[in-house]
Amino acid sequence: MIKKYYDQDCNLGLLDGKTVAIIGFGSQGHAHAENLHESGVNVVVGLRPGSRHVAMAEKAGLKVMGIEEAAEAGDFVMILTPDELQAQIYKDQIAPHLHAGNVLMFAHGFNIHFKQIIPPADVDVVMVAPKGPGHIVRDMYTQGQGVPSLIAVYQDASGKAKDYALAYASGIGAGRAGILETTFKEETETDLFGEQAVLCGGVCELMKAGFDTLTEAGYAPEMAYFECIHEMKMIVDLIYTKGFEMMRYSISNTAEYGDYITGPKVITKESREGMKKVLSDIQDGTFASNFIQEFNAGGKANFYAMRAKQAEHPTTEVGKELRSMMSWLNDEKEVN
Ligand code: NDP
Ligand code: MG
Repeated sequence: MIKKYYDQDCNLGLLDGKTVAIIGFGSQGHAHAENLHESGVNVVVGLRPGSRHVAMAEKAGLKVMGIEEAAEAGDFVMILTPDELQAQIYKDQIAPHLHAGNVLMFAHGFNIHFKQIIPPADVDVVMVAPKGPGHIVRDMYTQGQGVPSLIAVYQDASGKAKDYALAYASGIGAGRAGILETTFKEETETDLFGEQAVLCGGVCELMKAGFDTLTEAGYAPEMAYFECIHEMKMIVDLIYTKGFEMMRYSISNTAEYGDYITGPKVITKESREGMKKVLSDIQDGTFASNFIQEFNAGGKANFYAMRAKQAEHPTTEVGKELRSMMSWLNDEKEVN
């Protein structure tokens, strides 16, 4: 088990007299900036010209400046822009303003681990990665609670890199819930694996395969959509809040029996072999290099083609129709 750190293990005082520059004010950026500010840390927010977030950051009482200006002002520079843009932003607007003794920070290890960003040797490089989206990081903080977060040290030039990461994590409220130490490598590889094999790739393909099996057997697409897609949320919510045991306690005995005998017939030895291949493509950099090629050099042509192809699946149509019958779904405000 990973050792956990709490507020009493963190020295927020290490940030006294320091300036923390938060680059970007999106999902994570707004939460880190506002939480640190309310924890008494001197925060500046770096945004591109014309950013639609300037007014929002200023309304929160934060000092807003250009990205280069913020990088210059910051003793700590936390990069919270989309991952595929970070290398370019770093090269053009941050690297020239990093000075010896600064702390370069990330909330995800991708760019450091896959060497898209190669920092100078005289700065600390650390990660503070909340295990939740920004609006929850913000909401929990305002309620006196926190979101468990990961920290990692990639480069320790000062000898204090881990203490700095703990201080920052405490400043965003993570020390109230627990801080877990990992490495850039472990965080990056497990994050990519989880989203590809299970959360996004695995789950969506499983749902579609179930839907296709029923509709190809002549069942109504509406029934297939309810049973294989819509009701996923109910099950996942039970697992999310109480684990597999409570989910199984809540479902019928028929469902629980079917769960045990059928799961391994669908996720077979072959599926598990597929997962191992996914993992080795992540570990040896194959996935990262394909992704970078597609997004930076390839103009995203394949990416858009795959998106269009997915949209042609019959679940798109029937899903739209069924969701429009559920008034409570239409009220739900879009989350960042
Ligand atoms: P967002 O997509 O929400 O970031 C948006 C911010 O980036 C905005 O302020 C936007 O500027 C700025 N931005 C976008 N493009 C550019 C550009 N070309 N130049 C300058 N600024 C730009 O990012 P997230 O918060 O989702 O992710 C940030 C980091 O946090 C990533 O490393 C991610 O992996 C990590 N992370 C994200 C989590 C999440 O739940 N979202 C969870 C844990 C980690 P503008 O204000 O002009 O729109
Ligand atoms: Mg993730």
